[in-house]
Amino acid sequence: MTFSPRFRQTSGKQRILNPEMPILTADPPAQTTDHPPRAASQRLPRLETLLGANGPLAHALPGFAHRPQQVDLAKAVAASLREGRPCLAEAGTGTGKTLAYLVPIALWLAKHGGRAVISTHTLALQSQLIERDIPALFAALPELDLHAATLKGRSNFVCLQDLEGAANDIWAFGDPIFAKLQRWANETDSGDVAELDFTFPQWSEVAANQDTCRGRECRFYDRCFYFKARKYAENCQLLVVNHALFMADLRLKQANPNGPTLIPKYDAVVFDEAHHVDDIATKAFGLEWGSRRVPQLVNRTKKLAGDGLIDPNSLAALDALNQSLLDPFLIAGKSEDFTDDLLREEADRADFRERRDEMCEGLNTLAKDLIAAADKTKDAATKERATGLARTATRVSTELQLVSESRADEDAFRWYQTRRLKGGMAVAQLVKTPLEVAPMLQSALLDEVPRVIFTSATLASGGNFDYVKKRLGLVARSVPSPPSPSEGRGGRSEVATSSGGRSDAASGPLPLPSEGEGGRGGEGYSAEPPVELIVGSPFDYGKNCLLYIPRHLGPPSSAHEYTEQVAKEIVSLVELAGGRTFALFTSHRMLHAVHEAIWDKTDYPIFAQGEMPPARLTDEFKKAGNGILLGTASFWEGVDVPGDALSLVIMDKLPFATPDAPTERARERAIKEAGGNAFGEYSLPRAQIRLKQGFGRLLRTVTDRGVVAILDSRLYTKSYGRDFLRDLPPSPRTDNIESVARFFGGG
Ligand code: SF4
Repeated sequence: MTFSPRFRQTSGKQRILNPEMPILTADPPAQTTDHPPRAASQRLPRLETLLGANGPLAHALPGFAHRPQQVDLAKAVAASLREGRPCLAEAGTGTGKTLAYLVPIALWLAKHGGRAVISTHTLALQSQLIERDIPALFAALPELDLHAATLKGRSNFVCLQDLEGAANDIWAFGDPIFAKLQRWANETDSGDVAELDFTFPQWSEVAANQDTCRGRECRFYDRCFYFKARKYAENCQLLVVNHALFMADLRLKQANPNGPTLIPKYDAVVFDEAHHVDDIATKAFGLEWGSRRVPQLVNRTKKLAGDGLIDPNSLAALDALNQSLLDPFLIAGKSEDFTDDLLREEADRADFRERRDEMCEGLNTLAKDLIAAADKTKDAATKERATGLARTATRVSTELQLVSESRADEDAFRWYQTRRLKGGMAVAQLVKTPLEVAPMLQSALLDEVPRVIFTSATLASGGNFDYVKKRLGLVARSVPSPPSPSEGRGGRSEVATSSGGRSDAASGPLPLPSEGEGGRGGEGYSAEPPVELIVGSPFDYGKNCLLYIPRHLGPPSSAHEYTEQVAKEIVSLVELAGGRTFALFTSHRMLHAVHEAIWDKTDYPIFAQGEMPPARLTDEFKKAGNGILLGTASFWEGVDVPGDALSLVIMDKLPFATPDAPTERARERAIKEAGGNAFGEYSLPRAQIRLKQGFGRLLRTVTDRGVVAILDSRLYTKSYGRDFLRDLPPSPRTDNIESVARFFGGG
């Protein structure tokens, strides 16, 4: 969590922009936080005025342009807030989504009081909100007198208690980087790791964490960066968080509705980049247990063993137990699979249970020894460390038990993942994943907060929200609550369309919810049906974009000849575009094969994923101005290269998820077992959304132009090809590479 004086706004002189037509006229929200309501009698300007070509935002934001799509989205958000209904809104690239939701939310907060949370997936969007859009909004509307803050997870802040403890550790003793960190901790106002201008590899040793934090009992509580930042956030009406923190908070609330939370109480939420909510919630409501947790705990306990407070043999035994527990997974030969498939034989299962129980017992014994050590020592820092490590040992034990057992009332599946680290060390992760998060989202969020807005440039599939509604739990109960006459809640759920062209690891050892606690079998949420809106991009795809889908490659295959053909096609296209290409792949195998095949066939510089961190790779690509970037998953979205440096986006094939991935297999199996159509209900809409994301890399500004090439003839030959094509922006289409040459000015 950080707080920034940039957000502090002093109360300005009241300015009434359009006294005739205030946009917000609804009653105060049913749910309020402890914030006092704001000046309800204040006349507020219309959205159209605020977002108009000569409105205050146009003056405050250089480059601001009036977009009817933006106004449509703002109206949908305003309706959701006014009527107390969720909202699903897809708005194409260039709509200006952030202001489209910030403006109605700011007006709503000014009128009704309370607090709203904006949750994003990427740091880039958070930065845009914090550094540009929210300050511009506040500058344009000083009369609203709102305060905003970003809220980060605990692990982003240095813990003064742990920093003091670490000063005596062997690894820190005499280390100049550690000394630099100590100097920084004395000078910083925020204690936020993002402020560090150097890398500190042992950050996790000094970061605030749930196990070692003593809260008000801590000697450093009055100076604690985490609690100071949290206190500041509690006085703000607008909080910016990431999805991971939001979901971690939700999970805590679901496990203990009256317990401590990570985010102060709120009345409205906007999920931007909402297409990630399902996956992030799935991770948050699941459990993961990694093989490095025990060695990390052992390492942190060694100092106490060196002081004679803990038996070093017990630590060595834990290391050995950890290795033996994970051996079956590391030697299985598959990098990921269902745990039940690996431990198919009863003898294997019994053997695993035995090793696991031994490990849990060892960890519990260590926890007791650490408590005894804390009682024995007179040194305050050692006492705090031993107590914190005891909590960690108990947590690691409990989570191992939970992740490895099957509960009949849990609708979840167990699987594992193995991989090799850079130094060659093999690590394994045991995972338990809920089949669906919809019931949890319903009970923990949608039933509690009626105003939840999901927006993204890619949220719909097939021109509707059916898929995402099911995944997010936005299926209202069959008997909705009666509409309020004053609000005119009509229970409608139509789709309006307009064309136009580091998180808190605070999740404790919580079991997955059972059916009765919000597990599968929920009947929908109790609020009204969502407001739905799909607006296209304001960019001129008809003029500035060409979609090229060759027929001659045939259906994708893993054959060497096919890869060679794809590589040849990519080289031809790249030459026409003069480099300036993103080549997006659906697998690392294909990326490497194509890289191998083209590196000596073109003079344009190639930047392949894995050669350097993704952000640097993108920067180098931009700097080159004529480069070819080869990327997989993370490059299909969120990478922004406006201007001439990117004029061609190639996708190697339709982005269906890897069918072998345990999550895909488990979900598809569940749909089939329930009598559904796994392809139509799950695989296809996911791939449609993904394809739109890849497509969206091309035009980033109104003046950008270029070609999107999808090297998959199934778009012509399969019936679902039409479903994909219908979802894409309205650009002309060709199967003739001569047209591509003409588009780029050649041929
Ligand atoms: S209150 Fe918690 S996070 Fe803050 S310094 Fe103390 S132990 Fe660390």
